[in-house]
Amino acid sequence: MKILIKNNDLNEALSGLSNLGFIPTMGSLHKGHISLIKKSIKICHKTIVSIFVNPTQFNNLRDYKRYPRNLKKDLKILKKLNVNFVYIPKKKQIYNSKSKIKFHMPKKDKILCAKHRKGHFEGVIDVMVRLTEKIKPSKIFMGEKDFQQLLLVKRFIEKNFTSKIIPCKTIRDTNSLALSSRNLLLNKNGLINCGRIAKNLISFKKRLLKRKITKKIINTKIFELKRKYNINIEYFEIRNIKNLKISKNIKNSRIFVAYHFNNIRFIDNF
Ligand code: AMP
Repeated sequence: MKILIKNNDLNEALSGLSNLGFIPTMGSLHKGHISLIKKSIKICHKTIVSIFVNPTQFNNLRDYKRYPRNLKKDLKILKKLNVNFVYIPKKKQIYNSKSKIKFHMPKKDKILCAKHRKGHFEGVIDVMVRLTEKIKPSKIFMGEKDFQQLLLVKRFIEKNFTSKIIPCKTIRDTNSLALSSRNLLLNKNGLINCGRIAKNLISFKKRLLKRKITKKIINTKIFELKRKYNINIEYFEIRNIKNLKISKNIKNSRIFVAYHFNNIRFIDNF
């Protein structure tokens, strides 16, 4: 496994490679990341993982500073998986020049996280453009856990580059909580509580298969979640998986939720 830090080393290591699979991450790797990496190893000739906690996608400095960082452990995991390359750039390596491809979020897309985390996706797409320009992968593996991010990045990257975005299923813990690096900020009781929220929404979705979605059903569920699990809900919406339009029917749709528990922000979709 080659560890690449400088842009020159990256260019040299990747020159002439074809069918390169790329998994962009912010580190603190878990089984969710590992499933993306394994998929790449299976279908690509070589695999590169990046670890970069991208400051421009955090709209809150405190959130950026306390984002979990576990580089030593991450490198152990990647070595065991037999990943070919790990790219660990410093901020200046990524932001050493102006990006030629600019992203502007259309008004109609300012929903869910785009509405509530101002500038977040602009930061995500900017860093994805910079990484894709440098790495030139054939395939980029991304998780459905961050569903809106997946759709926005797929649309923009596939429009501007030849790289294909490969969507990957959300991996959950045994208690149903979606794996996330932020789970490391939870104590045991927090993990149990958030697992119960996930379980609650999985069975709520099943019940929706038989009924039309009304405002009353959604508001009652929001009220119940807040009361039972001591959370603040940022959004709780049911939207179509193709175009993210509000849905009156659970078919071809998902429940999208963002909530705060113990001052930690979680997102999920079911
Ligand atoms: P992050 O390190 O949180 O930026 O995530 C890097 C990639 O891993 C993104 O494409 C995420 O959607 C994906 N990912 C994060 N958590 C999971 C999960 N539980 N299951 C599948 N993919 C995930």
